[in-house]
Amino acid sequence: MAKNKEQDDFIKWLDEENPFSLNEEIEFFIFRCNDCGKEDEVSNCVVEEFHVDLENNEEVEVVCPFCNATMRQAKKKTQ
Ligand SMILES: [Zn+2]
Repeated sequence: MAKNKEQDDFIKWLDEENPFSLNEEIEFFIFRCNDCGKEDEVSNCVVEEFHVDLENNEEVEVVCPFCNATMRQAKKKTQ
């Protein structure tokens, strides 16, 4: 069963090398555009990156991919 062993090694390699492995929990936040009203999902990785430059009471803003206006978070994280 040499083939199965290779597969196991490959899966182990994926777990170690892949930053988006199952150990890393990715959440998505819904952002809504102020202008066109469309919604987009933004991963917590991106939101945290934006948060670095902000004061605690400031909201994260992203650029709308549809019309380039400002999008703000529509739903707070539920936990
Ligand atoms: Zn828009």
